[in-house]
Amino acid sequence: MVNQSKLGNSNLVVNPIGLGTNAVGGHNIYPNLSEETGKEVVRTAIQHGINFLDTAFIYGPERSEELIGEVLKEEGRRESVVLATKGAHKFVDGEVKFDNSPAFLKESVESSLRRLQTDYIDLFYIHFPDKTTPKDEAVGALKELKDQGKIKSIGVSNFSLDQLKEANKDGYVDVLQSEYNLFKRDAEKDLLPYTTEHNITFVPYFPLAAGLLAGKYTKDTRFEDGRAKNPMFQGEEFLRNLEKVEQVRKIAEDKGVEVAHLVLSWYLTRSSISALIPGAKTPEQVQDNLKTLDVELTPIEIVKIDEIFQ
Ligand code: NAP
Repeated sequence: MVNQSKLGNSNLVVNPIGLGTNAVGGHNIYPNLSEETGKEVVRTAIQHGINFLDTAFIYGPERSEELIGEVLKEEGRRESVVLATKGAHKFVDGEVKFDNSPAFLKESVESSLRRLQTDYIDLFYIHFPDKTTPKDEAVGALKELKDQGKIKSIGVSNFSLDQLKEANKDGYVDVLQSEYNLFKRDAEKDLLPYTTEHNITFVPYFPLAAGLLAGKYTKDTRFEDGRAKNPMFQGEEFLRNLEKVEQVRKIAEDKGVEVAHLVLSWYLTRSSISALIPGAKTPEQVQDNLKTLDVELTPIEIVKIDEIFQ
């Protein structure tokens, strides 16, 4: 297993197992989150060699960035971490809209810098496309910020192939972040081939399918957050999904590893995927996900896992 990977054409190098932090201060995503636990999650990550942290303005909103900023300051570890954040959400009369205009993106970077208590962001993503801004202009604004040293690399997220092509007209995009996991493999049709061809790192979000691929849910598990309304976690579809996880468990048991680590290591065999950002709600989950680095899949195991989810 590779222990370090480079992000796109940038000079940034990360441990392939990073940390997704929408459960760190993400009160608008998960109810009843403890901020202290969230800070401990981040602290545990950086103390155990995770150096790729993924946050966004909208997680909280604002609180995830603020808590991460506090931990990095308390630990004195800003320099050893590759810090990724995202912007595009704009509150207009209490409603959320997306804005990719150069002015708004520049404003977003400034406010993220303040919340993160830093003077540079390693990777800044346009979180969602808006309907009007030409994507190369939006990325052009980020290139200016990169030239000024305020950000070190450029990412886009939730972009279609056409939007990505437009964004990358000048070859400035280093990272694409999109939903991808064993249950949701649409990206294999177009986004993964494009990113591979253009040396853009593909960072999949929901790698554990919001916990389903961690292998611990049963038919009796009930959810109190957004998952309660997600068909993947309800009725017949949930049962079918659990059955697939059981098939993965057989392979994991034969290998003497756990489902989550088998699944995470499978993604790292895909072209253009070299870094993952599984989310964690506890320090134990953070440490547990690092065990992925010890898993080496055989070609046969790679195919078998693939086939379960075809
Ligand atoms: P995920 O990584 O698929 O699943 C994370 C969940 O799996 C955890 O909250 C936890 O849930 C469970 N889990 C994690 N590690 C585990 C372990 N070792 N053992 C057992 N259970 C474990 O989903 P996600 O956190 O929503 O997504 C990952 C990251 O992607 C986010 O944190 C965020 O940074 C990013 N993201 C980006 C976008 C975007 O639009 N760009 C959208 C969504 C997410 P339970 O404890 O509840 O079971």
